[in-house]
Amino acid sequence: MATEEFGFEREDIQPSRFKKYKGKVGRVDRAGIVFAEGQQPCVGAACHFKDRYFLCKSTKDKKEICCLHSYENNLPKSRIACVLVIYDIGEKDGKKTLRGYELLPWIFSDTQYVKLRNLNKEWPFDKHDITLTCTNEDFQTIEPNPCKESFWRSKPDLVKKILAEAVEMRKGLSRQLGADLSVTEIREQLGIDAPGSDDAAVDMSLGDVVTNI
Ligand SMILES: [Zn+2]
Repeated sequence: MATEEFGFEREDIQPSRFKKYKGKVGRVDRAGIVFAEGQQPCVGAACHFKDRYFLCKSTKDKKEICCLHSYENNLPKSRIACVLVIYDIGEKDGKKTLRGYELLPWIFSDTQYVKLRNLNKEWPFDKHDITLTCTNEDFQTIEPNPCKESFWRSKPDLVKKILAEAVEMRKGLSRQLGADLSVTEIREQLGIDAPGSDDAAVDMSLGDVVTNI
C-alpha cells in the first residue's frame, strides 16, 4: 500500500481491536448462524496458545517445534469460527419484533463445536436460530438451545442483505483463529530462540565443566 501524508485529524485510524461475540452471564442472546446455501458455515484449525493463539505447523507425517517443545499447550486444539447474526428483539402488542441486528464472528473450542453438532442434527441451523446462554464468562461456556424458526431466513430480502454484509467477515474468519507464524517465529514465541535463553549452559553441571578443562 502506498504511503500518504496527513495530520492528526484522521478518524478512520483506530487500533485494530477485533470485535467478536462474547456471552454474558444473565443475558440470553438469540442468534442465527450465517451461511448461504452450499456454503460451509465454519472454518477451523489446530492451534496452540502461548501468550497468543497461533496455528499448529505439524502435518500428519511431521511434527514441528510447536508440538515438540515442552510447554503447557503443546497439544494442539481445534479452534472454530463462524459468523453469527445477533438479534435485537423488541416486543410490540405482545408480538416479538426484530428491531435490529449485529453480525459478529464467533470463535469457539472443540467442546462448543460438539454441542452445536449435536444440536444441528435435530435442529439444522439453516432452518433454526439458537439461543445462547452464557454460564461462565471467563471460559465463555455457552449453552446453545434451538429456536422454532430462523428470523433472518424468514424474509428473502433480509437473507440477501445479511449474506452480503457477512461476505467480508467470512473472509476474515480464518485470520481470527490464530496467527500464522513461521517456524522461526514460533521458536521466538515459545522463547526457544529468544535472547537470554541458553538452555544448554544451564543444564551443564559444574562437575562436567571441571572435567572438560
Ligand atoms: Zn503444533
